[in-house]
Amino acid sequence: MIKVVFLGPPGAGKGTQAVRLAEKYEVPHISTGDILRSAVKEGTELGMLAKSYMDKGELVPDDVIIGIIRERLSQTDVKEKGFILDGFPRTLAQAESLDAMLEELNMPLDKVIYLNVNDEEIVKRLLARGRADDTEEVIRNRLEVYRKQTAPLIDYYSAKGLLVEINGIGDIEEITKKIEESLGLNG
Ligand code: AMP
Repeated sequence: MIKVVFLGPPGAGKGTQAVRLAEKYEVPHISTGDILRSAVKEGTELGMLAKSYMDKGELVPDDVIIGIIRERLSQTDVKEKGFILDGFPRTLAQAESLDAMLEELNMPLDKVIYLNVNDEEIVKRLLARGRADDTEEVIRNRLEVYRKQTAPLIDYYSAKGLLVEINGIGDIEEITKKIEESLGLNG
């Protein structure tokens, strides 16, 4: 059972590392960005709402996101194997809701992995990635939103004794190893 949150700026490698861990240990990977992008692709009501925020690099409203996570965490695979949260929580309100949900499920977090990458590297990586919301202007806004709304979670989880900071620059395999060590996994 792994119960972990990946925290860090856009482009830090949260998705890459979350997928690697999820595949290796067969733990559900829950990415709110992936869930929203697939809703946009399917043209659902959620997708249409989310798109207007995503296109600008703004956050989708907390109540919408919290509803998505509440439903996902209630599924049986999570109960059996845990979860790797990637891109959630992104605000203090989301983090507090998550705490309440996990308490209800009696599934406390093992750790919060904070992947730290500097701004220069982030912009370079995101421009290279070239996703629809990876234009220079939207990237700048996403970084701003990250700084204002998400970065405070570093202190929030640090105060709870859950934060592990890992340098997000370097060899992907090496970073995975460091994450595994911090979670007490054998690798
Ligand atoms: P990501 O793939 O995590 O970079 O997310 C892409 C976009 O989806 C973000 O820029 C937000 O617009 C939206 N999004 C993803 N996760 C969240 C979240 N936890 N809260 C609010 N908006 C989110």
